[in-house]
Amino acid sequence: MTSTEPIDPSAVVASGLSGLGKVFPPPKALLARRLLATGRPATAEEFARQGLQLSAEERRCLDEWLARGLVTGIVGETRSRDGTVKLLLGLRDGKKVETVAMPVGACCVSTQVGCAVGCRFCASGLFGVERHLSPDEIVEQVVHARRFLRIDRVVYMGMGEPSHNLDNVLTAIARVKDEVLISPRRQTLSTVGGVRALEKMRAATVRPCLALSLHTADEVRRKELLPNAHKDPLRDIVAAADAYGRDVGTPVQFEWTLLGGINDRDEDVEQLCALLEGVRGYVNFIVYNKVDGLPFEAPPRERIVAMARAVKARGILAKIRDSSGPDAEAACGQLRLRDRGGVQ
Ligand code: SF4
Repeated sequence: MTSTEPIDPSAVVASGLSGLGKVFPPPKALLARRLLATGRPATAEEFARQGLQLSAEERRCLDEWLARGLVTGIVGETRSRDGTVKLLLGLRDGKKVETVAMPVGACCVSTQVGCAVGCRFCASGLFGVERHLSPDEIVEQVVHARRFLRIDRVVYMGMGEPSHNLDNVLTAIARVKDEVLISPRRQTLSTVGGVRALEKMRAATVRPCLALSLHTADEVRRKELLPNAHKDPLRDIVAAADAYGRDVGTPVQFEWTLLGGINDRDEDVEQLCALLEGVRGYVNFIVYNKVDGLPFEAPPRERIVAMARAVKARGILAKIRDSSGPDAEAACGQLRLRDRGGVQ
C-alpha cells in the first residue's frame, strides 16, 4: 500500500489504532487514528488538507502502522430481529469479549473479560473476571461497531465493571472523544459504585455521563444480589453519584433491573424513593432478560408500569427500558461467551 491510496473502510479492521504515537508527532498520530476510526481515507492528501505535511519517513511509518493490524478482530456476529448486532471480538491473547451495536445509534462496549461483581442475574459475571481490557481493546470496539451501524453514543455497560478498570476506561473515553469524535456527554459509564471510584471520576479531566446500578435500595438484599459490589453504604454511594452528576451537569441514571418477586414490591418502591429523595437523577427500570439456567423472571408488564407510575408520583422521573436484541442474547445482562473458549 502507498500512503496516497485511499483506504477501503473494511481495511480499517486490517490496520491499527495503537503504537503510532511512538514514532509520529502527536497531532499527526491523532489525525491518523481519527481518520481510521471514522472510516475516512488516511492519505497524505488528507493530512495536507488538515495543514499537516508528511515526510517520506512519516509516510513509511504510517504504512507500517496501517499494515500492523488492530489488537482486536471480529470472530463472530449475531443479528437480532430488531437490527441489533452482537459482535464477538477476539483479542491477541486468545480471549474474547462481546460488543453490541444497536439501531438506536448506541454501542455497548465491554471493559473486562468477565466480571468480578457476580450479580446473580447477569450472565457476564458467571465465571468471575479474567483480566482488564486495555484502552485499545475498548476503543476498537466502537470502531468495529461503526462498520455495522451509525454509532454516535457509547455506553460502558457490556461485560465487566468499569470502576474496576477505571484508568483504562477513562483513557478510552478520552480517546473515543478525540479519535472517534463522540463527546463524553454522549458516553455513559455504568457502575455499581463505590465512593472512591466515583470521587476519582469526579476529579478526572474527561467525565462521561453516569449510570449507577442500584437494583435494590435494601442494603442486605443488595449484598445478596451483587455479592462483590463495593460495600460502601448505599446512601454514601448515591451521594457521591449525585455530587458527580451535579459537577458534570448531567443527571445520574439509577438503574434497576426488574426481577419478579425480588425487587418489584411496594416496599422496594418506597425504599427507592426514600434513597433518591433530593437527588438529581432519574430511574431507569430495565426489564430483565431471561438468562438460561438462572432462576429469575421479569415482573408482569402491568406491575412494571405501576412501579414507574408510583415513582413518578413521588416526583422522581422514571423510564422503562426494554433492551435491544434479546433474541440474539445481546440484551442487558445476557452478554457472555457460550463457553469459556468463547466461540458461539
Ligand atoms: S451486571 Fe454488570 S457488574 Fe453485575 S456481573 Fe454483570 S457485568 Fe458485572
